[in-house]
This record gives sequence, C-alpha cells and structure tokens, in this order.
Amino acid sequence: EVDLRYIVGIGAVEGGAVLITFQDVTEREQANQMRRDFVANVSHELRTPLTALMGFIETLRGAARDDPAARDRFLTIMEGEASRMNRLVGDLLSLNRVESKERIRPKEQMDLVAHLCSTLKTMQPLADAGNVSLNFSPPEVPVMIIGDPDQLLQVFINLVENAIKYGGDQVEVTLELLDRDPSLRAPAVRVQVTDNGAGIDPIHLPRLTERFYRADNHRSREMGGTGLGLAIVKHIVNRHRGRLRVESDLGAGTCFSVTLPLS
Ligand code: ADP
Repeated sequence: EVDLRYIVGIGAVEGGAVLITFQDVTEREQANQMRRDFVANVSHELRTPLTALMGFIETLRGAARDDPAARDRFLTIMEGEASRMNRLVGDLLSLNRVESKERIRPKEQMDLVAHLCSTLKTMQPLADAGNVSLNFSPPEVPVMIIGDPDQLLQVFINLVENAIKYGGDQVEVTLELLDRDPSLRAPAVRVQVTDNGAGIDPIHLPRLTERFYRADNHRSREMGGTGLGLAIVKHIVNRHRGRLRVESDLGAGTCFSVTLPLS
C-alpha cells in the first residue's frame, strides 16, 4: 500500500519495469506541523487579552456605565490587556525579522564592553523600580567582536529583564565578561547574566528557548511575558555563531551565558 502523496514521479524503464520515485516528506511534514502549532499558539495568545477586552467593553456599556470608579478601574485593566497584545505583536515581528536575517552574518566591528555598559544604563530604571541591584565590573580594555549591535542589545536586555522579572524581591543580578574563555578552542568571549532569584526547575531547561514555552506560566503572564524572549535570543546568538547556555538551581538562581566568537 502506497500513499500517493509521496510519489513525485512514475516512468517506464527498460524491460517493462516501472520506476517510481518517492520523496521523503518527514521533514516537510514536521515543518508544516510546526507552522500549524505556531499559528494555533499565536491565536490563543491573542485571543486571551481580546476576550478580556470584549468582556470589559460589554461591562462598560452595561453595569459600569454610571459608575465612574468602576469605569476607571476597568479602563486601566483594558489598557494593560491592550499593551500585552502590543508587546506580543512586537515580539512576533522581532522574531520574524531575526529569523529572516539568521543566515546573513553580521558585519560590524563593535566593542562588547561599551555595549554592555550602555545596555545596563538602559536597564537601571527597571532594576531600581524592582529594588534589584545590577552589578558589572567592566574590563578596562575593549573587547572587539563582529556583531549586530541592535540585536545584541535585544539579547542582553532580554536576559537582564528576565533576571529582574523572575528573580523576586531583593535579587542581585550580575553581569560578567569572561574574555578569551579558555574552555573553548576558538578565541571567544563569554557574557554571563547571573541572578540569585527563584531559579528554574531542571525539567524545563531543555525547552526554554521554544516559542511560547514558559517555565512558570502564571508568573510569566503576571509579569507581562510573551514567552518569545528566549526564542528571539537563541536566533540572534545563532546568527552570531555563538552559543547560549543556561544553568539553574531551583530556589538558588539562574545563570544564562552567551559565548560569542572574538573578531
Ligand atoms: P517570557 O516572556 O515568559 O519571559 P522568555 O522566553 O523570556 O519568556 O522566558 C521563558 C521562561 O523562562 C519564562 O517564562 C520564565 O518562566 C523562565 N525564565 C527565564 N529567565 C528566568 C530567570 N532568570 N529566572 C527564572 N526563570 C526564568
């Protein structure tokens, strides 16, 4: 019994035999399945805030119509739901851009030290708001790599933001730049983002960079997470021919490390 969809050619060969050419569709089927799952996930993620918005609009038209205090409260919630949708669409577009560029090697010479210092400056207000201390002792000499500064900014912002978001109260986030990592054969540099926060259960670690995968679903949604941050990070690191690693101890903290080839 043969599934006709897998036949890509039929021809006669000498001696009255028939040549049937099959195509291995496993990979294509897998890609199609991934696409279908992705569309289902996106629809689900968009539908949740949309359903909430529609519910509140109905309430505003009805019961809360003449109650200014309730109206204000509902409008604030609606604003939050709308910005969740906005973040999701923004992250989807970022993922799309990053994926489409993945095969194009970055070209720009850049100093990773200066880059990390300016990333931390951007993150300082968020850290202050969460009572988090951000530590980084930059090396005194520049560390040159070939990279895409905008994309690497996105990588380190995502990692530091996660450390702040999931770390919990009074957490400390430390950035380290290990120049010329001796454990690697090719000259490379390693950036580590370590927190002493809640940590991640080891069963989640292998799947963290999958789109929409969340180790703590409730907390991620509560913190406004889209579940796409680490997927974006992974694609950017791949584009730089780098490596992303995570180590974590539940209750003790997490360390994400990004290894990048030196220019
Ligand atoms: P999200 O938008 O949910 O933050 P990410 O892709 O950035 O999505 O992260 C995936 C999941 O990994 C998060 O939902 C969270 O459960 C977990 N996670 C990421 N970073 C940390 C961290 N520093 N500490 C604890 N959990 C983390």
